[in-house]
Amino acid sequence: PDGEVTASTVENVRVVVRVRPPDERERLERTPICVTVDTTNATIGVTRANANPPEPPRIYAYDAVFDADTTQMDIYVQTASPIVEQVLRGYNGTILAYGQTGTGKTYTMAGATSAPELRGIIPNSFAHIFAHIAKADDKEKFLVCVTYLEIYNEEVRDLLGADARRALEVKERPDIGVFVKDLTGYVVHDADELEKIMCVGNRNRQVAATAMNTESSRSHAIFSITVERSTKSHDTGKSHVTMGKLHLVDLAGSERQSKTQAVGARLREATKINQSLSVLGNVISALVDGKSTHIPYRNSKLTRLLQDSLGGNSKTVMIATVGPAESNYVETISTLRYASRAK
Ligand code: ADP
Ligand code: MG
Repeated sequence: PDGEVTASTVENVRVVVRVRPPDERERLERTPICVTVDTTNATIGVTRANANPPEPPRIYAYDAVFDADTTQMDIYVQTASPIVEQVLRGYNGTILAYGQTGTGKTYTMAGATSAPELRGIIPNSFAHIFAHIAKADDKEKFLVCVTYLEIYNEEVRDLLGADARRALEVKERPDIGVFVKDLTGYVVHDADELEKIMCVGNRNRQVAATAMNTESSRSHAIFSITVERSTKSHDTGKSHVTMGKLHLVDLAGSERQSKTQAVGARLREATKINQSLSVLGNVISALVDGKSTHIPYRNSKLTRLLQDSLGGNSKTVMIATVGPAESNYVETISTLRYASRAK
């Protein structure tokens, strides 16, 4: 059922923006920079260098903004860490990366493997969870379970199963809510094991995309970690179980498809991506608005699957990523608008 919104819901949803540094091509071509970051006021300004007539910058406000110098650890501490803490206490949480392809969604979520300090939110959250478990006293027992799926063209695919090309069914049961039938789940015992599983999933995603002649940037990837904690009371001998779920979501690229003049299957695919991103935007803006009584979770697979972790007591952060260059002006404005409407 669609959830009701309370005051706490509003505080539980944060929208932030991260601007990546100019890449090599942008530096070589000396493309003008159109984005400025004001971390004090948590605003982003956008202006075209050679606009004629000159234009004042457009200013957009968020809960926090991060400039090109922001480290992976800064991002983790300021956006993801509080959510992981809540998950360890038995609440649900969702961290989403939204933006045009090439702006840093995967860099932010997964990061680079070349150096430990370049690791993104996903591996940092693995380390966080297992460091917490290692510190726990012997009255507490933890069980960590993961699934990894992608949604492509409104079809759900298992990135940890035998065949990442097979579409799975989304089902609903009164006792457990929305779930994916036959989705592979693994119990994991340490951060290394979790990281290996993530790499297997990433590889399967790439292989399936190649086999189906698609781009992995056209699908949403959801890595989900369930942390079950049971504590035994010394007095009564009874155990008490809490369960927290963390969804880590690398969304499909938000770029408009008209640019590439997609036709046929590609156009249908593009329409579905735009639809599911717009449903997500509607859900998040209804949650932060706080006045809506109806949250349209049911309008896409993505929001259906995230429903139990978006809104209510769950904590959510959406990280919108943008590039700094004027050559991406239109897409950057579109991302900033989407993210500020979500707020
Ligand atoms: P997306 O997943 O949104 O398509 P990527 O995460 O693949 O984008 O990023 C595109 C390129 O930019 C990659 O080479 C990535 O390493 C680099 N990049 C993205 N964000 C940053 C950042 N904040 N700092 C340094 N490099 C970045
Ligand atoms: Mg990516």
